Amino acid sequence: MGTDTQLVLTVLGIVLTVALVWLLFSVVPGDTYFNPFRGRWESVALPQGWQIKLGRELAPDFERELGGSHPNGALQGRVYQIGARLVGALHRWERSRGGNLEWAVFPFRFRVVASERVNAFALPGGPIYLTYGLLSKLSTDDQLAGVLGHELGHVVLRHTAQKLAVSLKANALVWGIRRLFGQDIADWVGGAAALLSLKYSRDQEREADRFGFELLCRAGHNPQGLGQVFRLFQQLGARSSLEILSTHPDPGNRIRELQTLRCGQFVP
Ligand SMILES: [Zn+2]
Repeated sequence: MGTDTQLVLTVLGIVLTVALVWLLFSVVPGDTYFNPFRGRWESVALPQGWQIKLGRELAPDFERELGGSHPNGALQGRVYQIGARLVGALHRWERSRGGNLEWAVFPFRFRVVASERVNAFALPGGPIYLTYGLLSKLSTDDQLAGVLGHELGHVVLRHTAQKLAVSLKANALVWGIRRLFGQDIADWVGGAAALLSLKYSRDQEREADRFGFELLCRAGHNPQGLGQVFRLFQQLGARSSLEILSTHPDPGNRIRELQTLRCGQFVP
């Protein structure tokens, strides 16, 4: 076989591999399911089983990077209790909207991590993390429930799964570009892709806010708990730069939107 043929085959192999990954995480294995909260059938790039498996795989490293599980058992217990109450309300809400307990199979887990950063995270499939830096600044259960409810929204509305699918596709593309065009161009594309996959879209953040608001209503919390957290971010951000403000939409707009919401009127 001549070098030209080999080169063509190599290039073809790389292009096909990248195309396959894109196809895989775009449409092919996506499960179609009835989303009771949006009231319509939807398909998602990552099937539920994959989301759960990936979340489980990612959790130990993720936790370690955030300083590990916080040793205070009472603190973990309080977060667990509030999280469990929200999950109970979530399942009742789902049933009332004609859902089939699909969300019940998400192994939701609420964990405080020792990091002093002020942030909260959700992995696909259920693990939800709250930093000690954030928890130590919250003064009420309603505020804590607000943060957890927002993160639950990202999982249940499949924002985490979509974000992961996008970053898997971006990684495949960067790999392909590195093989074909070299490291420099790959670095440039990788940087752009990392920026894209760093945050949820503005629309997803607002949808998770509205979802969290309604979930708080249904779990018997003051639904303005989430708005109070954003006010806290504003105060903290005025004093020093706050990581969460650089990756999230302006809290002022979110507070204003939350003030227009009413219990029992969730619109996705
Ligand atoms: Zn969010």
